Amino acid sequence: MRALTVAPGTANSARVEDVPDPPLSDGSVLVKTLALGVCGTDREIVSGKYGWAPQGEQRLVIGHESLGKVEQAPAGSGFQAGDLVVGIVRRPDPVPCAACAVGEWDMCRNGRYTERGIKERNGFGSEHFRIEPDFLVKVDPVLGGAAVLLEPTSVVAKAWDHTERIGERTRSWKPKTLLVTGAGPVGLLAALMGYQRGLEVHVLDHRENLLKRRLLEKLGAVYHAESMRELGALKPDIVMECSGAPGVVRDVLGSTGASGIVCLVGVTSPGHDFDIDIGLLNRDMVLDNETVFGTVNANRAHYQMAGETLAKADKEWLERLITRREPVEQWTKSLERLQDDIKVVIDFS
Ligand code: BGC
Repeated sequence: MRALTVAPGTANSARVEDVPDPPLSDGSVLVKTLALGVCGTDREIVSGKYGWAPQGEQRLVIGHESLGKVEQAPAGSGFQAGDLVVGIVRRPDPVPCAACAVGEWDMCRNGRYTERGIKERNGFGSEHFRIEPDFLVKVDPVLGGAAVLLEPTSVVAKAWDHTERIGERTRSWKPKTLLVTGAGPVGLLAALMGYQRGLEVHVLDHRENLLKRRLLEKLGAVYHAESMRELGALKPDIVMECSGAPGVVRDVLGSTGASGIVCLVGVTSPGHDFDIDIGLLNRDMVLDNETVFGTVNANRAHYQMAGETLAKADKEWLERLITRREPVEQWTKSLERLQDDIKVVIDFS
């Protein structure tokens, strides 16, 4: 079968290869891949800056935002041929640590977790993949192709889950305003979840984009294409930092109102030094009970939350997030950032 592979650590090693059928050791359910979403992590892997091949191998099958159709599933697995499914990305570490032991692999403490298509496990970017039923999620067929958004939505669902748990440290917590920095797929999905919670949503984009402006206006959100400094007066209750842009990360620190929560979702690469008045930042954060926290990945409960989020959303709105589909043969084109891209998908169907 055809698979999208890379040699992690080596820049521009991406190719389409013929590989053996997926091994039974990957799981008892056989899935035919329909689509694969592409994100910043995939770009980092292809550029050689991130990612790990399975032990003893040189190449990694890439792809962690899946959508497929079950072809074979054992009786009693909870799945049957024809089910529309998405694979869970992370697997618990082998120890397992206290978090992985209770199914919270997204909170792994020892870093020995593995991730399909990212860290030491082949991903979903092949014509078929196999997976364990415990790491497979059924999606509502009504969602159609938009179900490929389930994995990025699960990451955002975890961000919301943890933000709300932190907020509940005070019984008086009733957030009203949300600022999302970054208007990529993760930022837009974070805005969608803020809208579904009845918040006043603001989204900061790095440059004006008409499609994103329209999508956000549909949610009743305010679209800003200016700098974070110009939003200084907003003092939101929650900031979801989804840009991963170092300058924006610096600017969101201390930008909330009292008891505010800054949730860092975007990943940055090392090597960006900034001058910050740490005394002032610390004083403001302490005196105002502010929180800054980071979040990554998602466990099964978050995939469930993500499914509910997508089910409640306007289907047409979701479909508009998928702005480009590239055929398998030209999958590296999906890695290029074109002006009007939001979510780019590789079409396996
Ligand atoms: C994926 C997560 C993963 C993270 C770090 C993200 O792109 O969506 O599932 O945990 O990268 O590897």
